[in-house]
Amino acid sequence: MEPAEGGRAGDGEAAPSPAGVREGWFRETCSLWPGQALSLQVDEVLHHRRSPFQEILVFRSKTYGNVLVLDGVIQCTERDEFSYQEMIANLPLCSHPNPRKVLIIGGGDGGVLREVVKHPSVEAVIQCEIDEDVIEASKKYLPGMAVGYSSPKLTLHVGDGFEFMKRNQEAFDVIITDSSDPMGPAESLFKESYYQLMKTALREDGILCCQGECQWLHLDLIKEMRQFCTSLFPVVEYAYCTIPTYPSGQIGFMLCSKDPSTNFREPARPLSQAQVDAMGLKYYNSDIHRAAFVLPEFARKALSTV
Ligand code: SAM
Repeated sequence: MEPAEGGRAGDGEAAPSPAGVREGWFRETCSLWPGQALSLQVDEVLHHRRSPFQEILVFRSKTYGNVLVLDGVIQCTERDEFSYQEMIANLPLCSHPNPRKVLIIGGGDGGVLREVVKHPSVEAVIQCEIDEDVIEASKKYLPGMAVGYSSPKLTLHVGDGFEFMKRNQEAFDVIITDSSDPMGPAESLFKESYYQLMKTALREDGILCCQGECQWLHLDLIKEMRQFCTSLFPVVEYAYCTIPTYPSGQIGFMLCSKDPSTNFREPARPLSQAQVDAMGLKYYNSDIHRAAFVLPEFARKALSTV
């Protein structure tokens, strides 16, 4: 285990042995998915410390590459991260006619940033991540994601995304919230007041896309969020992607637009196969964009009554 770096009093401390690691396996248990747990076999614990915000663990797994875990919850693995990062970035960016200025909240591993800066129309990306230690750990152990941090388009703020949002008005074409789950530092990012702040921070035809939890586990939360989104925005949709290492193998996205003519289900700027190849995309293409909004009947029914 890597000891806490010295010389930055109060910034962090060495954590005791990583929660969830036992007998060579990491087991992800959480009250947000009671009665179930994903396990990954651990080759080596690479980094473990408590930041001022959360417990940060990085381990090398047997079959999923390096894995970032915050407060016992898997945030990304090198093997399957591309699915989530490509979708949360490209669903909104390809739904906007000309995204030039993009705000990312959270996203400490850098993967969403990596995808956003691939778009030639994007001139500036502002990112606000609460935990500098996540950024540093990702630069060291998840270089394939943290590569985004070297982009000249980026302005990085370290701070609370909710507070940052209060300081912006009509500033962004697209806002992407790549947050952890609604426990701990990310709790405020799932509230109606945060969506109201994002609405104010978006330009008049602006679009937002937020990590939207899992339809198998959190349908009540998704319903509640969709309800308040519908009261704030003329266009609201829920989409999802598959990803083996998130709970139940799926994660969703809440998409809202201030422009009543937005049709999220049909990309405003479809990517040609040549563009998909040039951008190095491994999950997103225009067909999966369209398919991502087709929900299984139980979820469609639950969300259509909102
Ligand atoms: N895709 C991942 C998932 O769904 O589990 C999330 C990945 S990303 C690492 C989540 C980031 O959100 C973390 O780095 C965390 O520090 C950051 N975060 C949590 N709460 C935040 C807040 N209030 N403001 C800004 N960043 C926040």
